[in-house]
Amino acid sequence: MTSTPFAATVSRNPAAKTPEQRDAILADPGFGNHFTDHMFLAEWTPDTGWANGRVVPYGPLSIDPATAVLHYAQEIFEGLKAYVHADGSVWLFRPEANAARLQRSAHRLALPELPTDWFLGSVTALVDADRDWVPSGGEKSLYLRPFMFASEVFLGVRPSQHVTYSVIASPAGAYFKGGVKPVSIWLSSQYSRAGTGGTGAAKCGGNYAASLLPQQEGMEHGCEQVVFLDSTEHTWIEELGGMNLYFVHSDGSIVTPTLSGSILEGITRDSIIQVARDLGHEVVERRVSIQEWREGVADGSITEVFACGTAAVITPVGTLKWDGGEVTSGDGEAGKVTSDIRSALIDIQYGRAEDRHGWLTRVS
Ligand SMILES: *Cc1c(COP(=O)(O)O)cnc(C)c1O
Repeated sequence: MTSTPFAATVSRNPAAKTPEQRDAILADPGFGNHFTDHMFLAEWTPDTGWANGRVVPYGPLSIDPATAVLHYAQEIFEGLKAYVHADGSVWLFRPEANAARLQRSAHRLALPELPTDWFLGSVTALVDADRDWVPSGGEKSLYLRPFMFASEVFLGVRPSQHVTYSVIASPAGAYFKGGVKPVSIWLSSQYSRAGTGGTGAAKCGGNYAASLLPQQEGMEHGCEQVVFLDSTEHTWIEELGGMNLYFVHSDGSIVTPTLSGSILEGITRDSIIQVARDLGHEVVERRVSIQEWREGVADGSITEVFACGTAAVITPVGTLKWDGGEVTSGDGEAGKVTSDIRSALIDIQYGRAEDRHGWLTRVS
């Protein structure tokens, strides 16, 4: 059955945090540590379509041990942020792109697609209920986490006939506290994040589960992040565990690995293509080999490397390490092109620069 248009009831949290408790959290929220007073919930069945939209007090979900997601990982998610502008208004950055990606992820994981009006309605309703939790000043934001999972109580292997959709919200501090610092990257030679025909282009929890062991290996080698290559030839750069990659060349052109089907289509990645072009850079999407990264940094044809995603926006990449060597781009600071693109994007998100591409949606 097709879903009815978005509608939601709101039950206020009688045990909401006091303004003092909230202010203490918002002073130094970190990332993913604290959650707001409310959450959004809705359910889908083949008979009802998406229904029962509601904003309710934040709290635990009660899950039967035989709930399908716990066994077969039929689960997808999104991540986007709400930003306060100088006049106190609250805005989302390209939320319809997140809605479309959640639909693509749902398709790949055999979950029901959530209509765009439900996606936008749910995140807006939650931001509205938790308006006081959107932090202002200094690159702070309210991180929104929509997610969907198989909630049928059933151990057979087939798409779930009962699905739950939820949105939770978590205040986020500036990703880089002491200024933007380059991260070091471990080249995983043994593991891939995703394979041809697999779920790499879907934003599903299972991809992250598969990235944790190589991530641990990277940390044992003193690196903060891991870069994954294609699973067939082990030659072509795909992305980090949760961020896309960019290479700045000495002629000012910028290259990012072309979407291969196993790379997650980052909305930050897509926005950077436009912002970099607006700044006068040539932007090329093509295959990039790991050899090109190593040799390009060594011979100076690659001058800057950066990673991008909603959480950090843009992270400069310093050292690439592998079993037997390493190369370092830059001098331990963010490069100029990296910094300029980062500022240009953040200025749009915080309303300090003109929204030339119609990327912002006001929610409060
Ligand atoms: C979410 C995600 C990204 C970044 O996507 P954004 O839309 O820019 O936040 C990149 N890679 C993976 C694997 C991701 O899950």
